[in-house]
Amino acid sequence: MTDLALLVRSVTEQMAQIEDRGAVATYIPPLAEIDPLRFGLCIVTADGAVHTAGDCDEPFSIQSVSKVFALTQALGKIGEALWLRVGREPSGTAFNSIVQLEREQGIPRNPFVNAGALVVADVNLAGHEPRVAIGELLRFVRHMADDETIAIDEAVARAEQETGFRNVALANYMKAFGNLKHPPERTLGVYFHQCAIAMSCRQLAMAGRYLMHGGRIEPGGPRLISPQRARRINALMLTCGHYDASGDFAFRVGLPGKSGVGGAILAIAPGKAAIAVWSPGLNENGNSQLGTLALERIAEATGWSVFGAD
Ligand code: GLU
Repeated sequence: MTDLALLVRSVTEQMAQIEDRGAVATYIPPLAEIDPLRFGLCIVTADGAVHTAGDCDEPFSIQSVSKVFALTQALGKIGEALWLRVGREPSGTAFNSIVQLEREQGIPRNPFVNAGALVVADVNLAGHEPRVAIGELLRFVRHMADDETIAIDEAVARAEQETGFRNVALANYMKAFGNLKHPPERTLGVYFHQCAIAMSCRQLAMAGRYLMHGGRIEPGGPRLISPQRARRINALMLTCGHYDASGDFAFRVGLPGKSGVGGAILAIAPGKAAIAVWSPGLNENGNSQLGTLALERIAEATGWSVFGAD
Protein backbone atom coordinates (compact mmCIF):
# COMPACT_ATOMS: atom_id res chain seq x y z
CA MET A 1 0.00 0.00 0.00
CA THR A 2 1.26 3.46 -0.85
CA ASP A 3 2.41 5.57 2.09
CA LEU A 4 0.19 8.58 1.43
CA ALA A 5 1.83 10.83 4.02
CA LEU A 6 5.11 10.29 2.24
CA LEU A 7 3.53 10.63 -1.19
CA VAL A 8 1.93 14.05 -0.56
CA ARG A 9 5.24 15.35 0.78
CA SER A 10 7.29 13.91 -2.05
CA VAL A 11 4.91 15.16 -4.78
CA THR A 12 4.94 18.62 -3.15
CA GLU A 13 8.75 18.58 -3.11
CA GLN A 14 8.86 17.47 -6.75
CA MET A 15 6.54 20.32 -7.74
CA ALA A 16 8.71 22.86 -5.90
CA GLN A 17 11.61 21.95 -8.24
CA ILE A 18 9.67 22.75 -11.40
CA GLU A 19 10.28 26.16 -12.92
CA ASP A 20 7.66 26.19 -15.67
CA ARG A 21 4.59 26.66 -13.51
CA GLY A 22 2.21 28.13 -16.12
CA ALA A 23 0.74 31.61 -15.85
CA VAL A 24 -1.55 32.93 -13.11
CA ALA A 25 -4.92 34.29 -14.24
CA THR A 26 -4.69 38.02 -14.85
CA TYR A 27 -8.27 39.03 -15.58
CA ILE A 28 -8.77 40.34 -12.03
CA PRO A 29 -6.12 41.89 -9.74
CA PRO A 30 -6.78 39.59 -6.73
CA LEU A 31 -5.82 36.58 -8.88
CA ALA A 32 -3.03 38.33 -10.81
CA GLU A 33 -1.32 39.18 -7.52
CA ILE A 34 -1.07 35.58 -6.25
CA ASP A 35 2.45 34.20 -5.88
CA PRO A 36 2.86 31.43 -8.50
CA LEU A 37 5.13 29.54 -6.10
CA ARG A 38 2.25 28.69 -3.79
CA PHE A 39 1.37 25.01 -3.76
CA GLY A 40 -1.00 23.07 -1.55
CA LEU A 41 -2.14 19.47 -1.50
CA CYS A 42 -4.61 17.48 0.59
CA ILE A 43 -5.79 13.89 0.29
CA VAL A 44 -8.68 12.67 2.44
CA THR A 45 -9.07 8.91 2.24
CA ALA A 46 -12.16 6.76 2.70
CA ASP A 47 -11.20 5.92 6.31
CA GLY A 48 -11.13 9.65 7.12
CA ALA A 49 -7.36 10.03 7.25
CA VAL A 50 -6.17 13.46 6.10
CA HIS A 51 -2.76 13.92 4.46
CA THR A 52 -1.54 17.41 3.69
CA ALA A 53 1.52 19.21 2.42
CA GLY A 54 2.64 22.67 1.35
CA ASP A 55 0.19 25.60 1.60
CA CYS A 56 -2.66 23.25 2.41
CA ASP A 57 -4.37 25.64 4.83
CA GLU A 58 -4.10 28.77 2.73
CA PRO A 59 -7.47 29.86 1.30
CA PHE A 60 -7.66 30.62 -2.44
CA SER A 61 -10.43 31.51 -4.83
CA ILE A 62 -12.13 28.23 -5.76
CA GLN A 63 -13.65 29.81 -8.89
CA SER A 64 -15.13 27.14 -11.16
CA VAL A 65 -14.73 24.34 -8.64
CA SER A 66 -17.82 25.96 -7.05
CA LYS A 67 -19.78 24.74 -10.08
CA VAL A 68 -19.73 21.21 -8.62
CA PHE A 69 -21.35 22.33 -5.36
CA ALA A 70 -23.81 24.64 -7.13
CA LEU A 71 -24.80 21.76 -9.45
CA THR A 72 -25.38 19.46 -6.47
CA GLN A 73 -27.60 22.11 -4.93
CA ALA A 74 -29.57 22.73 -8.15
CA LEU A 75 -30.16 18.99 -8.67
CA GLY A 76 -31.44 18.86 -5.10
CA LYS A 77 -33.93 21.58 -5.93
CA ILE A 78 -35.30 20.56 -9.33
CA GLY A 79 -33.78 17.14 -10.00
CA GLU A 80 -33.79 15.79 -13.53
CA ALA A 81 -35.71 18.84 -14.81
CA LEU A 82 -32.34 20.60 -14.85
CA TRP A 83 -31.43 18.62 -17.97
CA LEU A 84 -34.14 20.37 -19.96
CA ARG A 85 -32.11 23.56 -19.61
CA VAL A 86 -28.49 22.29 -19.62
CA GLY A 87 -26.80 19.52 -21.61
CA ARG A 88 -24.46 16.78 -20.43
CA GLU A 89 -21.93 16.69 -23.24
CA PRO A 90 -18.33 17.87 -23.22
CA SER A 91 -18.12 21.21 -24.98
CA GLY A 92 -14.73 21.00 -26.66
CA THR A 93 -14.64 24.78 -26.24
CA ALA A 94 -13.22 27.28 -23.76
CA PHE A 95 -14.99 27.81 -20.43
CA ASN A 96 -16.48 31.13 -21.52
CA SER A 97 -17.24 30.35 -25.15
CA ILE A 98 -20.39 31.84 -26.65
CA VAL A 99 -20.37 30.27 -30.14
CA GLN A 100 -22.08 26.97 -29.27
CA LEU A 101 -24.93 28.79 -27.56
CA GLU A 102 -26.21 30.26 -30.79
CA ARG A 103 -26.17 26.95 -32.63
CA GLU A 104 -27.79 25.16 -29.70
CA GLN A 105 -30.57 27.65 -29.01
CA GLY A 106 -29.34 28.97 -25.70
CA ILE A 107 -28.99 25.52 -24.07
CA PRO A 108 -25.43 25.26 -22.69
CA ARG A 109 -23.53 22.06 -23.38
CA ASN A 110 -22.95 21.18 -19.73
CA PRO A 111 -23.19 22.65 -16.20
CA PHE A 112 -19.44 23.30 -15.97
CA VAL A 113 -18.98 25.75 -18.85
CA ASN A 114 -19.83 29.27 -17.69
CA ALA A 115 -23.12 29.37 -19.57
CA GLY A 116 -24.22 26.13 -17.89
CA ALA A 117 -23.14 27.38 -14.48
CA LEU A 118 -25.20 30.51 -15.04
CA VAL A 119 -28.31 28.38 -15.67
CA VAL A 120 -27.49 26.42 -12.49
CA ALA A 121 -27.15 29.72 -10.56
CA ASP A 122 -30.52 30.78 -12.00
CA VAL A 123 -32.09 27.57 -10.66
CA ASN A 124 -30.53 28.12 -7.24
CA LEU A 125 -31.85 31.69 -7.21
CA ALA A 126 -35.50 30.66 -7.62
CA GLY A 127 -37.63 31.98 -4.77
CA HIS A 128 -34.72 33.81 -3.15
CA GLU A 129 -32.93 37.11 -3.07
CA PRO A 130 -29.42 36.67 -4.58
CA ARG A 131 -27.90 37.20 -1.11
CA VAL A 132 -29.98 34.39 0.32
CA ALA A 133 -29.21 32.04 -2.59
CA ILE A 134 -25.48 32.51 -2.18
CA GLY A 135 -25.82 32.17 1.60
CA GLU A 136 -27.53 28.84 1.06
CA LEU A 137 -24.68 27.59 -1.14
CA LEU A 138 -22.11 28.77 1.37
CA ARG A 139 -23.90 26.96 4.20
CA PHE A 140 -24.02 23.81 2.07
CA VAL A 141 -20.27 23.95 1.39
CA ARG A 142 -19.50 24.65 5.07
CA HIS A 143 -21.62 21.67 6.07
CA MET A 144 -19.90 19.33 3.61
CA ALA A 145 -16.44 20.52 4.63
CA ASP A 146 -17.45 20.53 8.31
CA ASP A 147 -15.90 23.99 8.59
CA GLU A 148 -17.86 27.11 9.52
CA THR A 149 -14.99 29.45 8.67
CA ILE A 150 -15.35 29.13 4.88
CA ALA A 151 -16.28 32.54 3.47
CA ILE A 152 -16.64 34.60 0.32
CA ASP A 153 -13.77 36.86 -0.67
CA GLU A 154 -15.67 40.08 -1.30
CA ALA A 155 -12.77 41.71 -3.17
CA VAL A 156 -12.79 38.83 -5.66
CA ALA A 157 -16.58 38.99 -6.00
CA ARG A 158 -16.40 42.74 -6.71
CA ALA A 159 -13.62 42.27 -9.25
CA GLU A 160 -15.57 39.47 -10.99
CA GLN A 161 -18.55 41.80 -11.19
CA GLU A 162 -16.48 44.66 -12.60
CA THR A 163 -14.77 42.62 -15.31
CA GLY A 164 -17.26 39.86 -16.12
CA PHE A 165 -18.33 41.22 -19.50
CA ARG A 166 -18.29 37.83 -21.20
CA ASN A 167 -20.40 36.32 -18.45
CA VAL A 168 -22.80 39.27 -18.77
CA ALA A 169 -22.97 38.54 -22.52
CA LEU A 170 -23.63 34.82 -21.92
CA ALA A 171 -26.37 35.58 -19.40
CA ASN A 172 -28.08 38.11 -21.66
CA TYR A 173 -27.84 35.77 -24.62
CA MET A 174 -29.50 32.93 -22.71
CA LYS A 175 -32.12 35.32 -21.38
CA ALA A 176 -32.97 36.13 -25.01
CA PHE A 177 -33.56 32.40 -25.57
CA GLY A 178 -35.71 32.22 -22.44
CA ASN A 179 -33.23 29.99 -20.58
CA LEU A 180 -32.78 32.35 -17.62
CA LYS A 181 -35.82 32.95 -15.42
CA HIS A 182 -34.45 35.92 -13.48
CA PRO A 183 -33.07 39.29 -14.52
CA PRO A 184 -29.53 38.49 -15.77
CA GLU A 185 -27.86 40.83 -13.25
CA ARG A 186 -29.37 38.88 -10.35
CA THR A 187 -28.29 35.51 -11.71
CA LEU A 188 -24.84 36.94 -12.43
CA GLY A 189 -24.62 38.22 -8.84
CA VAL A 190 -25.07 34.68 -7.55
CA TYR A 191 -22.54 33.28 -10.04
CA PHE A 192 -19.87 35.91 -9.32
CA HIS A 193 -20.18 35.31 -5.59
CA GLN A 194 -19.97 31.52 -5.87
CA CYS A 195 -16.74 31.93 -7.89
CA ALA A 196 -15.39 34.07 -5.03
CA ILE A 197 -15.78 31.41 -2.33
CA ALA A 198 -12.36 31.07 -0.70
CA MET A 199 -11.22 27.66 0.54
CA SER A 200 -8.01 25.87 1.38
CA CYS A 201 -6.98 22.49 -0.04
CA ARG A 202 -7.93 20.87 3.26
CA GLN A 203 -11.40 22.42 3.19
CA LEU A 204 -11.91 21.58 -0.48
CA ALA A 205 -10.90 17.92 -0.12
CA MET A 206 -13.17 17.62 2.94
CA ALA A 207 -16.04 19.20 1.00
CA GLY A 208 -15.51 16.65 -1.79
CA ARG A 209 -15.98 13.62 0.47
CA TYR A 210 -19.63 13.16 -0.48
CA LEU A 211 -18.54 12.37 -4.04
CA MET A 212 -16.09 9.72 -2.81
CA HIS A 213 -18.70 8.09 -0.54
CA GLY A 214 -21.63 7.84 -2.99
CA GLY A 215 -23.48 10.81 -1.53
CA ARG A 216 -22.58 10.53 2.17
CA ILE A 217 -20.07 12.75 3.91
CA GLU A 218 -18.87 9.75 5.90
CA PRO A 219 -19.56 6.03 5.51
CA GLY A 220 -22.67 5.20 7.52
CA GLY A 221 -23.54 8.89 7.86
CA PRO A 222 -26.71 10.55 6.60
CA ARG A 223 -27.21 10.58 2.87
CA LEU A 224 -26.79 13.99 1.26
CA ILE A 225 -27.56 12.85 -2.27
CA SER A 226 -28.29 9.47 -3.84
CA PRO A 227 -25.41 7.22 -4.96
CA GLN A 228 -26.67 7.51 -8.52
CA ARG A 229 -26.52 11.31 -8.36
CA ALA A 230 -23.01 11.23 -6.89
CA ARG A 231 -21.90 8.90 -9.71
CA ARG A 232 -23.43 11.19 -12.29
CA ILE A 233 -21.78 14.30 -10.89
CA ASN A 234 -18.48 12.40 -11.01
CA ALA A 235 -19.23 11.44 -14.63
CA LEU A 236 -19.77 15.08 -15.53
CA MET A 237 -16.55 16.08 -13.75
CA LEU A 238 -14.68 13.47 -15.74
CA THR A 239 -16.14 14.42 -19.12
CA CYS A 240 -16.55 18.19 -18.68
CA GLY A 241 -14.55 19.27 -15.61
CA HIS A 242 -11.55 20.64 -17.48
CA TYR A 243 -13.27 22.37 -20.40
CA ASP A 244 -11.63 21.52 -23.73
CA ALA A 245 -8.82 19.71 -21.91
CA SER A 246 -11.19 17.24 -20.19
CA GLY A 247 -10.10 14.40 -22.46
CA ASP A 248 -6.46 15.06 -21.70
CA PHE A 249 -7.13 15.15 -17.95
CA ALA A 250 -9.00 11.82 -18.15
CA PHE A 251 -6.10 10.38 -20.13
CA ARG A 252 -3.40 11.62 -17.77
CA VAL A 253 -5.11 11.36 -14.38
CA GLY A 254 -8.05 9.01 -14.94
CA LEU A 255 -10.20 10.52 -12.19
CA PRO A 256 -13.20 12.88 -12.14
CA GLY A 257 -11.86 16.37 -11.53
CA LYS A 258 -12.99 19.98 -11.59
CA SER A 259 -10.60 22.85 -12.09
CA GLY A 260 -10.87 26.58 -11.48
CA VAL A 261 -8.90 29.54 -12.80
CA GLY A 262 -7.70 30.23 -9.26
CA GLY A 263 -5.47 27.17 -9.77
CA ALA A 264 -7.44 24.61 -7.76
CA ILE A 265 -8.47 21.13 -8.81
CA LEU A 266 -10.79 18.86 -6.85
CA ALA A 267 -10.37 15.22 -7.92
CA ILE A 268 -12.34 12.21 -6.72
CA ALA A 269 -11.18 8.60 -6.56
CA PRO A 270 -14.60 6.99 -5.86
CA GLY A 271 -14.53 4.84 -2.75
CA LYS A 272 -10.92 5.79 -2.09
CA ALA A 273 -10.13 9.47 -1.77
CA ALA A 274 -11.00 13.12 -2.30
CA ILE A 275 -8.00 15.14 -3.39
CA ALA A 276 -7.56 18.91 -3.58
CA VAL A 277 -4.53 20.55 -5.11
CA TRP A 278 -3.72 24.21 -5.60
CA SER A 279 -1.07 25.76 -7.79
CA PRO A 280 -2.05 29.13 -9.27
CA GLY A 281 -0.16 28.87 -12.59
CA LEU A 282 -2.44 27.75 -15.43
CA ASN A 283 -1.73 25.92 -18.68
CA GLU A 284 -3.00 27.13 -22.05
CA ASN A 285 -6.44 25.62 -21.34
CA GLY A 286 -6.85 27.55 -18.11
CA ASN A 287 -6.28 24.53 -15.83
CA SER A 288 -3.65 24.37 -13.09
CA GLN A 289 -0.44 23.20 -14.71
CA LEU A 290 1.29 21.73 -11.67
CA GLY A 291 -2.02 20.73 -10.12
CA THR A 292 -2.62 18.44 -13.09
CA LEU A 293 0.92 17.09 -12.96
CA ALA A 294 0.70 16.46 -9.21
CA LEU A 295 -2.55 14.53 -9.67
CA GLU A 296 -0.99 12.53 -12.49
CA ARG A 297 1.84 11.50 -10.17
CA ILE A 298 -0.58 10.65 -7.34
CA ALA A 299 -2.74 8.55 -9.67
CA GLU A 300 0.35 6.78 -10.96
CA ALA A 301 1.71 6.04 -7.48
CA THR A 302 -1.59 4.88 -5.98
CA GLY A 303 -3.11 3.17 -9.03
CA TRP A 304 -6.32 5.15 -8.43
CA SER A 305 -8.27 5.36 -11.66
CA VAL A 306 -11.88 4.97 -12.70
CA PHE A 307 -10.69 3.03 -15.74
CA GLY A 308 -9.26 -0.05 -14.07
CA ALA A 309 -7.31 -1.42 -11.16
CA ASP A 310 -3.61 -2.14 -10.88
N1 GLU B 1 -14.78 33.52 -12.57
C1 GLU B 1 -14.34 32.83 -13.76
C2 GLU B 1 -15.24 33.22 -14.89
O1 GLU B 1 -16.43 33.09 -14.76
C3 GLU B 1 -14.35 31.36 -13.50
C4 GLU B 1 -13.77 30.56 -14.61
C5 GLU B 1 -13.03 29.31 -14.15
O2 GLU B 1 -12.68 29.14 -12.99
O3 GLU B 1 -12.76 28.47 -15.01
O4 GLU B 1 -14.80 33.69 -15.90
